[in-house]
Amino acid sequence: MRFLIVFFVLISNVLIAQNITYLRPERVFDGEKILEKYGVLIKENKIELIDSQSIIDKNITKDAKIVELKNCTLLPGLIEGHTHLFLHPYNETPWDDQVLKEARSYRTARAVVHAEKTLKAGFTTARDLGTEGAEFDDVGLKKAIDDGLILGPKLLIATKALIATGSYAPKNFSPDIKVPQGAEEADGHDDLIKKVRNQIGRGADVIKIYADYRWGLRGEAAPTFSIEEIKLIVETAKSAGRPTVAHASTAEGMRRAILGGVETIEHGDNGTPEIWKLMVENNVCLCPTLAAGDAISQYRGWKKGFEQEPERITKKRLSFKQATEAGVKICFGGDVGVFAHGDNARELEMLVDYGMQPIDALKTATSINADAFHINNEVGRLKKGLLADLLIVEGNPAQTISDIRNVKKVYKNGILVELK
Ligand SMILES: [Zn+2]
Repeated sequence: MRFLIVFFVLISNVLIAQNITYLRPERVFDGEKILEKYGVLIKENKIELIDSQSIIDKNITKDAKIVELKNCTLLPGLIEGHTHLFLHPYNETPWDDQVLKEARSYRTARAVVHAEKTLKAGFTTARDLGTEGAEFDDVGLKKAIDDGLILGPKLLIATKALIATGSYAPKNFSPDIKVPQGAEEADGHDDLIKKVRNQIGRGADVIKIYADYRWGLRGEAAPTFSIEEIKLIVETAKSAGRPTVAHASTAEGMRRAILGGVETIEHGDNGTPEIWKLMVENNVCLCPTLAAGDAISQYRGWKKGFEQEPERITKKRLSFKQATEAGVKICFGGDVGVFAHGDNARELEMLVDYGMQPIDALKTATSINADAFHINNEVGRLKKGLLADLLIVEGNPAQTISDIRNVKKVYKNGILVELK
């Protein structure tokens, strides 16, 4: 009885307060589970309450704004874990040409459009893992979004990202000329420390390194930085409160990145049982970027649905399965930019296609990413006190994952985004 009274007092305090919006969907996904006939109250920029509709209905005051959302599912705003807002699909313009031939002003203009498309697809937060030659232009893009000048998700940005000298791209030019690179070259003790600090000083929220790249003797992927170099990068970034994440697709590149202390591995195509075990033991998440590999194979001529899967795809399916079975935590990120911005849901569909349950896929793009990116005190779940970043879709994506594309409403910081 005492509980009931306390509960009622709490509820009425909440509901008497003004400027409450009551969202009344068919069900909510709170970041971890589905709750049928639940509702969410938002006040200003925060979530005020999540509870069953039968309780809220009895206590709601007349001045509350009630939003009926028939046949809809309400979720936390999604978190894209791997995007490049300064890139656009490689079948439109090859990556080399984007880096070398497109003006930065043009790339920024595109990035503005990409940011809006990302938000309108229901992604209220995004981790941008490198401008790929567009210098520190993500810093200004992020500020323009935060200042409300343009529409876009909240950004966690990596700025230029770090590569070992000679390893990255564009490549295969005459050795006599110096070709601008898609990320910043740095090596050895003093240089690495200085460049990590410089990226942080200019606005990087996260340090991204390329732990391997296609610079092997026959053009195959091979490791770049030594473990000592990676440890130094991680330590330097960590002392300023920044996590380090690594592009890695070879087993040795992954091993060095894990032992060096990175928090997420991007791609991870050629992990082995030993590597998956090492990831579990060191609590490193895998961001598998399934959609990027799928897109690139199609750009190279694979007629998906009509032709047999290329070997690369079959191997990726297998390694993804092995990683999940080994207990590696999967975070969500498609490497958007390789394919179209706004089509971020493609990675969710592919996670399911590769064997994940739809509800587990939804978790990766909400609570798991929020935890992995250290932003769970603000976003990623429907919980009192978190920011009212919300996505409302028609249907039930926990059953049919592609329903996540049926975007009806998006709220960012409690404000309804104009979707037209
Ligand atoms: Zn990427």
